[in-house]
Amino acid sequence: MSIVDDILQLKKERNAIILAHNYQRGEVQDIADYVGDSFGLSQKAVQAGAEVIVFCGVDFMAESAAILNPDKTVLLPTPGAGCPMARMITPFDVQSLRLDHPDAEVVCYVNSSAAVKAMSDVCCTSSNAVKVVDSCRSDRVIFVPDKNLAAYVQLHTTKQIYPWHGYCPTHEIITEGDVLLAKMDHPGAEVIVHPECRPEVVAIADGVFSTDGMLKYAKTTSKDLIIGTEMGIIHRLQKENPGRNFFPISQFVVCPNMKMNSLETVRDSLKDMRTRIRVPEDIRIKAKRALDRMLEVGR
Ligand code: SF4
Repeated sequence: MSIVDDILQLKKERNAIILAHNYQRGEVQDIADYVGDSFGLSQKAVQAGAEVIVFCGVDFMAESAAILNPDKTVLLPTPGAGCPMARMITPFDVQSLRLDHPDAEVVCYVNSSAAVKAMSDVCCTSSNAVKVVDSCRSDRVIFVPDKNLAAYVQLHTTKQIYPWHGYCPTHEIITEGDVLLAKMDHPGAEVIVHPECRPEVVAIADGVFSTDGMLKYAKTTSKDLIIGTEMGIIHRLQKENPGRNFFPISQFVVCPNMKMNSLETVRDSLKDMRTRIRVPEDIRIKAKRALDRMLEVGR
């Protein structure tokens, strides 16, 4: 039996569903029941009828699934798969920001720990960050942890944003020079980038989208596209748009944490039912409030 057959067999035996982020390895995306961005994956986690959710992503994503599904077993195939940006802020930092800006609401990008979500009023993803900020009652918003997404939101809202200084190391390495060089290498192609990129990169891109936004946009244009986000998404872009050209903005835009899951770790995860992600109940209840409010706002 092949490793894929093993996974399908184990999935059936365990009554499991496999969710994979758009940045996962191609072969992991291919065995998933659903591939998507953080917002879509959160929705699927809520809707999942299965008893076990195997979350192929990084730890904060599996935590969110566990927060939303206390009665299900949520497994992260590779326990060390974490997000450096999520580790750039602590609950204590959020508390300090609240003291500095007592009349502001706290909007927390889902790329954060359960404990930070629990200290926040509402979560957002890159696909609904502007909508979530605009839905806040206060005209002042503390936005954590991503300074680049905060800067992007500030361009599209009249509310005053107080950003934290976190960032995604994978997107931060993309420079204006990469945009200009890629345009020279592929004349006629459009550059689309993720809002986790630096503001100066966002300013000269032809479009700014979440990963699912990029997938939707690709279907509306016949142009070649230069992709300014983690390279894993190119697998899905090519699969859904055969014969089209999608070029990575640079060969270095790879998130090592997203690449830690493999077919082997997915199989072993289902076989040994590890690694189970658990969130302490007091934190889970508070974090769920912030995630539920985000899901109510929608995409
Ligand atoms: S791509 Fe960036 S934000 Fe996403 S998991 Fe990797 S480090 Fe974190």
